[in-house]
Amino acid sequence: MSEVPGATGPASPGPDRRVVIALGSNLGDRLANLQQGLASLCGGGLACGAVSAVFQTAPVGGPAQDDFLNAVLLASSPLPAREILRRCQRAEDALGRVRTVRWGPRTLDVDIITCGKEVANDPDLTLPHPRAHARAFVLAPWLDADPTACLPGYGSVRDLLAAVGDEGVRRMPQLRLVLPRGRAEEADISCR
Ligand code: ATP
Ligand code: CA
Ligand code: CA
Repeated sequence: MSEVPGATGPASPGPDRRVVIALGSNLGDRLANLQQGLASLCGGGLACGAVSAVFQTAPVGGPAQDDFLNAVLLASSPLPAREILRRCQRAEDALGRVRTVRWGPRTLDVDIITCGKEVANDPDLTLPHPRAHARAFVLAPWLDADPTACLPGYGSVRDLLAAVGDEGVRRMPQLRLVLPRGRAEEADISCR
């Protein structure tokens, strides 16, 4: 018996969208945590195209705590945003992330910054990320990975970073992350 296309099989994948993901760590071996986060995220429907330089950043909000290492991953995926969010949360869980106090220290934080031009207003999934436009620790690595990046609804990442300023954010050229399955891919999340 032949299958009827679309009748019973798995949902067909949607169109590929560019996905921007921010990673941060300020507990334990911060660089190793970020690298392990990339390993958890990449592959299986999330094609990782580029990762930014690593930035050391002063904590913003929350209790007094150590500096973070932050980076931004540029990927593309046909997966629903909620599926990508689950992947982000699994990556955090794998590093033993514990939530005690809001904006407290963490082994790994993985936020979806944009998923194509998708807009979502659920507290469990807000897109674009509601605070990314005001955070130098997201904007600086994103600009590093993609000099023409655009945050939908807000404008060019370069202009946003100029407005916010980059105090407390320092590029760490001696620290490097590598993509698990390095596939060089043009990053063109531009405003055009
Ligand atoms: P912030 O959101 O200000 O960066 P945080 O990363 O410390 O703070 P978490 O405790 O990691 O906050 O996450 C709180 C909730 O945010 C999660 O339960 C998650 O469902 C939700 N959330 C909403 N939008 C997003 C998004 N775009 N990316 C990741 N998590 C999100
Ligand atoms: Ca966060
Ligand atoms: Ca988070």
